[in-house]
Amino acid sequence: MNWEKNVRRVEPYVAGEQPKAEGVIKLNTNECPYPPAPGVKRIAESLNCDKLRLYPDMNAEKLVNALADYYHVSPAQVFVGVGSDDVLAMAFLTFFNGGEPILFPDITYSFYDVWAELFRIPYKTCALDENFCIRKEDYLTPNGGIIIPNPNAPTGVLEDTALFEEILAANPDSVVIVDEAYVDFGGRSMVPYVEQYDNLMVVQTFSKSRAMAGMRIGFAIANEKLIGYLRDVKFSFNSYTMNMPAIDMGTAAVLEDAYFKEIVGKIIKTREWTKERLQRLGFSFADSQSNFLFVTHERVPAEEIFLALKKNNIYVRYWKKPRIDNHLRITIGTDEQMETLVAFLEDYLNGGKELR
Ligand SMILES: *Cc1c(COP(=O)(O)O)cnc(C)c1O
Repeated sequence: MNWEKNVRRVEPYVAGEQPKAEGVIKLNTNECPYPPAPGVKRIAESLNCDKLRLYPDMNAEKLVNALADYYHVSPAQVFVGVGSDDVLAMAFLTFFNGGEPILFPDITYSFYDVWAELFRIPYKTCALDENFCIRKEDYLTPNGGIIIPNPNAPTGVLEDTALFEEILAANPDSVVIVDEAYVDFGGRSMVPYVEQYDNLMVVQTFSKSRAMAGMRIGFAIANEKLIGYLRDVKFSFNSYTMNMPAIDMGTAAVLEDAYFKEIVGKIIKTREWTKERLQRLGFSFADSQSNFLFVTHERVPAEEIFLALKKNNIYVRYWKKPRIDNHLRITIGTDEQMETLVAFLEDYLNGGKELR
């Protein structure tokens, strides 16, 4: 019984809970509270099942072209995948092969260290400062690659594009990935810089601002050479990752820009309302430019609040991890959902229904 010595052992990424019960207010995985664009629904309803006997277009040309048009780049500068997790995993495999450790923040998307472990990539985490901001100097040291989300998750902190420009310029021998999963909620994208910096790769997703987490669509924008290498690895791994409906529905979503802007605008408005109300309740947080808030309470431990919320069918995210174990990450839902959350917290924190 010695086959186990040849097993690639990994400690998998732990995603937020997907509760099965009805009536749950789900603010724990940063999904969009609104449905996808109406055009997406029309595609779903007119789906031609006969076509499914054929393989999908492995280049997902329709979707690639729509994204290229939308972001004013050429189709050769666009790579699409099954959620940005797929795109990011391929990018780790493709670009992070040096001997030096790759760099990312100590508080960040918790898939990065999992991929690094899986692909045996050496890595070093760089501590954010006490305001959860990037310390630039940390990224001006020798490295095998850099990945930073902007805004960062789970902090919501947005860094200036100038910071990334400096990091890019200082690291011409490393690929620098900017994970822009939340950039549509108030950030400035690095996409306009892909011509200028041939070591820049920008990754975005349809899971948050485009309300399509269930469809699994993500993409990268970078210069042609970089995208070419990414495609070579992807086509050496699994050519037909994106299924036909995903390609069609993703395309439809990109084409409906007015709807996209409408739901993003609503979420931003609700976020600003929620900030104000939570502040009044004794919460503090970095000024999030994403679709979530990362909050800590002046008096009550985060874990207690987390459990009390859960008992009352409001799910938020809590990590028992160094530096963030007194914080909660709360996704911005609809106005109504946030009103319910705030009403519960008012009651709970001011000696209401829950004893503590
Ligand atoms: C949600 C998220 C992703 C992955 O999203 P997909 O659903 O796989 O597209 C990637 N990076 C960050 C920082 C995220 O929050």
